[in-house]
Amino acid sequence: MLVPGPTPAYHRQPFSAAPLTLGQRLSRPVIGAFSRLGILDAYGIMRRHLAPPAARVVAYHRVGNTYEFPSDVPLTAAQDFERQIAHLTRKYRVISLSDLGRTLGAGRSLPEKAAVITFDDGYRDNYLLAYPILKRYGAPATIFLATGHIDAGTPFWWDRVSYAVSHTSREQLDLGRLGEYRFQTVTERWLAARTIRSRLKDVLDSEKNSAIEELVGHLGADMPGPLARDLFLSWDEVREMSHNGIDFGAHTVNHPTLIGMPLGQAHSEIARSQRRIAEVVGRPVDTFAYPDGRRANITAGIKAILRELGFVCAVYGNPDALVRPGTDPYEMGRLSPRWNFNTFHLTVCGLYPDLMTLRGRMRGR
Ligand SMILES: [Zn+2]
Repeated sequence: MLVPGPTPAYHRQPFSAAPLTLGQRLSRPVIGAFSRLGILDAYGIMRRHLAPPAARVVAYHRVGNTYEFPSDVPLTAAQDFERQIAHLTRKYRVISLSDLGRTLGAGRSLPEKAAVITFDDGYRDNYLLAYPILKRYGAPATIFLATGHIDAGTPFWWDRVSYAVSHTSREQLDLGRLGEYRFQTVTERWLAARTIRSRLKDVLDSEKNSAIEELVGHLGADMPGPLARDLFLSWDEVREMSHNGIDFGAHTVNHPTLIGMPLGQAHSEIARSQRRIAEVVGRPVDTFAYPDGRRANITAGIKAILRELGFVCAVYGNPDALVRPGTDPYEMGRLSPRWNFNTFHLTVCGLYPDLMTLRGRMRGR
């Protein structure tokens, strides 16, 4: 039987964000100045005159100021989130993802200054912190739910790994094919969790569960049930939000990677999550988010399943891409601006995505 390990000293305070890289630290003041001096707004206006309309689809995960345990799930501070939503509703036309998908699918031109707000995974802070702000600004949004986790109250594998690494009383450990790690300092634990998570991402789902059981056993610390349950929305919260401007999209039942999964199994994962949400909210579910944001999840076979099940569009995690005329509605990239309001501003005005497109062209992609 697994018992939670003693709380490491460094973790007695709530844990906030991951350390920034040098490049991030150096570019922050420059981006801040661009934002304050109106250069980003000017770029957005110029862009609207020179380029066909594009839509920015923003992807959030968690909203709040701290995590319950060290994590690298993208976290937007509540105050910053409010500033971002205020900016979107003031400068853009916030529409629903489903409307954007239908417009693209019908080959109609995109509305001017369209913006779409989405959240992945269904964390409870979406209800506690994001929803009141969205309601205040009258902003529609779509939340993608992995329905099995809400039904069973079991944690996502990455949260379980993060918890175990941050709470283990082991000082070092050889985890075989997952590598050898030391857990003596905050940074060592943070790096270990990140490396283990990225190595597990490529382990097939059929083997992933046993690899995680083994890992948690070695670390001797497992996330307590009540904490796991508390991380997610309840169906009552989903129902309430669905009556007040929030749409819910399918994100599979168990949040597997679809890469390499037999199509029959993928069909069942997608269809069952779509059905479960529709049953709760009482209306059809027509948007989908690929469960691990990588492009390799998107195949002709999966797209055929989505069309057959009546989905009008699907999104993934490309953080650099605007939705432009001609974008395949089943391959819509989303922006996930991380650090703060200024980097958000840089991204949604189109400058950062345009620079990334230019870089891709120069590299021949
Ligand atoms: Zn997800």
